[in-house]
Order: sequence, then C-alpha cells, then structure tokens
Amino acid sequence: MSVPVRTVCGVQEQLGFDAMPKRLIKVTPSRLGVWADCRRRFRMTYVDRPTPPRGGPWAHSTMGAVVHNALKGLFDLPPDRRTPETAAKLVAAHWKDDGFADQAQAGQFRERAAGWVHDYVKDTDVTEDPVGLERWVSAPVGTIVAEGRVDRIDQRGDELVIVDYKTGKHALTTDDARGSQALALYVLAARRTLRRPCTKVELHHLPTGTVASWEHTEESLGRHLSRAEESADEFQLAIDTAKAGGDPEVLFPPNPGRQCGWCDFRRSCADGQAAGPALDPWAMLSP
Ligand code: SF4
Repeated sequence: MSVPVRTVCGVQEQLGFDAMPKRLIKVTPSRLGVWADCRRRFRMTYVDRPTPPRGGPWAHSTMGAVVHNALKGLFDLPPDRRTPETAAKLVAAHWKDDGFADQAQAGQFRERAAGWVHDYVKDTDVTEDPVGLERWVSAPVGTIVAEGRVDRIDQRGDELVIVDYKTGKHALTTDDARGSQALALYVLAARRTLRRPCTKVELHHLPTGTVASWEHTEESLGRHLSRAEESADEFQLAIDTAKAGGDPEVLFPPNPGRQCGWCDFRRSCADGQAAGPALDPWAMLSP
C-alpha cells in the first residue's frame, strides 16, 4: 500500500498511520557533500539569501562541463553519426575559455579534452540510446527525497545502469564506485522514477579511459541511505534552529583547511582566508 505524500513549503511530508506528518527532506549529493566538507559553506550555498558573492569560474570545472555537454550532444545524434571525430568536434563546439590563464592554455586543454572524448567514443559501444541523459531523478526513499541529475542512465538487459563521467586528475577504483553516496542515491531515485530494477553504478574516467563499477545490494544501498538520512536530519535541524533564532555561527561552523583554497565563498570567510592562500583558477588542472 502506498503512503500518501503532500508538499508543504517545499518539504514533502509523508502522512503516517498516526496521522502525524513526517517531513521528507530533499537531499541531493551536492548538498550532502557540502555539509560534510564545511557547514559554513553549506549555509552560504543553501541558506543565506541573498547568496553571498561567489568566486569566478574554475578551469577544471569548465573542462568537465564541456566534456559532459559534448557527450550529451553525441548521444542526441543518430547512432551512425556517433563517431570519435564527431565527438572531438563537439568538444570544440561547446568549448569555453572560462577560468584558464590565457588562450594558449585554454587551447592546449581543449585539445586534450577532444582527445579524451575521441578515445572514449572509439573504445566504447555508443550505438545504444541511453534511457536518460543529464536526467533529473527524484523519489521519496526512507525519510528523504533523493534527487539529482544523472549523467547517463543505460538500459542493459532488464536493468538500468547509472553512469557518471569523471574528468579529474586521478583514475578511479572499485572502492570509489562502491563508496560513492551520490551514485547510490541515484540508484534509489532512478529505480523509483523509471520503475525498473537498478543496482549497478559505473564511474567512466575520461583521462585514463577506465571504468570503475560496482553492483549494489539492498544492504549496501541501505547503508548509504542511512548515512544520507543522518546528514539530512542534521542539516535540517540546523536550518530549522537558525530560522527559530539560533546563532548561525554556532549552527554552521567553518571547517578551515586545504579546501578553502578553492572555496567559492572564500572572499566572505575570514577563517578560510586565514587557512592558506587562494589557488589560481587553473591550479586544479592536470599538469
Ligand atoms: S573558506 Fe573554508 S571555512 Fe570558509 S566557507 Fe569555504 S570551506 Fe568553509
């Protein structure tokens, strides 16, 4: 029997048998990640309005976005046009210089990104149409609404597979796929949204052309869900307490460290500035 759900002020409530509504907290992987990294950054990202000014673009983020857009554009084409050469041209078509030191550096990394995408398409079967591309999934599970945008959802046999593209410096491992809370939440949301079985997750690392995969069990998904529920309870309590007059400096303390070098809200955070120097916007590109 399905449990009735209603939405009040953006928070879904599940009506229990005792007629007392239980709030379902909306949870995205990025919310959970920011909460785990730094609670002050969480406040500035999701609570403070107007949002404090953010720093400028990052070159590695630009590069990642271009690769994602090129691969989405490729799968929008008919299968016989999904060639490595077309994929490389799509990188050029979607390219931006945002965050790079100068045009020479941007050009060098544009060529590198085109090479990644070319080789990925050469070595991957791209003839099947995915079930979802940049697909938003959202579903109530446990005490949260798990949601987010999935890079790609494949149908293989009777099952859905969650595919996440990665463009960072380091190759990824099975442990990364197994431990990714984001991918586990996408499984839970995708199987409810698309009403098909889903247990497998894959990290496709473009720079090395490697795939790290993991087949979840109900137990492993349950562990990820429990941790997400705990974090969601924590941040919702902090938000509600702040709204009721609690001190946001106490409820959302800073977590100064290396991550302050690339924090978007560094200019509004004295603790972060004191933690160390700001990184150049292109500092997180692979050498
Ligand atoms: S600069 Fe550092 S301490 Fe300040 S909000 Fe960002 S991550 Fe948190």
